[in-house]
Amino acid sequence: MSKQKYPLTWKKKDFSIKIFCSIPNIATGILIRANKAHFVVDPGDGILRDLNKEMGTKKLLSISDVFITHGHHDHVGGVWALLTYLRVMHKKTPLSIYYPEGCVEIESIYNAFMKVYSNSLTYKITLKKIKNDKSLRSKNVTIKPFPVIHKELLSDGITTRQVPAIGYKFTYNKMKICYGGDTAYCKDLVKNAKKSDLAIIEAGHGDDDHEDDMHMSMSEAKAIGETAKQYFMVHVPE
Ligand SMILES: [Zn+2]
Ligand SMILES: [Zn+2]
Repeated sequence: MSKQKYPLTWKKKDFSIKIFCSIPNIATGILIRANKAHFVVDPGDGILRDLNKEMGTKKLLSISDVFITHGHHDHVGGVWALLTYLRVMHKKTPLSIYYPEGCVEIESIYNAFMKVYSNSLTYKITLKKIKNDKSLRSKNVTIKPFPVIHKELLSDGITTRQVPAIGYKFTYNKMKICYGGDTAYCKDLVKNAKKSDLAIIEAGHGDDDHEDDMHMSMSEAKAIGETAKQYFMVHVPE
């Protein structure tokens, strides 16, 4: 497949998503708008630059929720910059950060951030650890987390281990966006992508002749994507 052209955008009435970037091992960055609500999903490196260009400072300060699928650097690398910028610009409204239970990266970034800035913070940050697939609500959007299968290589370069990883389905005015994050082929993604208005499916493995279960191949991603009304294939290696 040829190189993805970012940003990728999808819009239906006042519900939209913009994927600024999704390159494995480099960065991800996603903005969701539902009427006046602004959510950020997987703020990888460069997210602050992209958000600032897209919405300007005033709207950036209105971001209410951040959704993290897992702790790999290409999905959380921009969190520190985002939190710090919101402080420097005197954000007043609260911010919630959702992340899968066991994601030590987010807890560590938050703890370090609070250690440095808690005395001068103008807004409240709430960490929301996701332990199950119970639906959440924020700003008239229903958010359903679901478990996915995502692994990483250990230092021996052979052994893999499962990392805490989830996908999210966002429903607003009966319109549904399903984002699986990084995942191998898994039944929960299949179930949640089906009949979504938009499914965002990773094809991080790129080619189709592979043995491992760390990422999906093009044909697996395509098969899932085609069960939705529309789909984007993302996280394709460059
Ligand atoms: Zn990734
Ligand atoms: Zn990953």
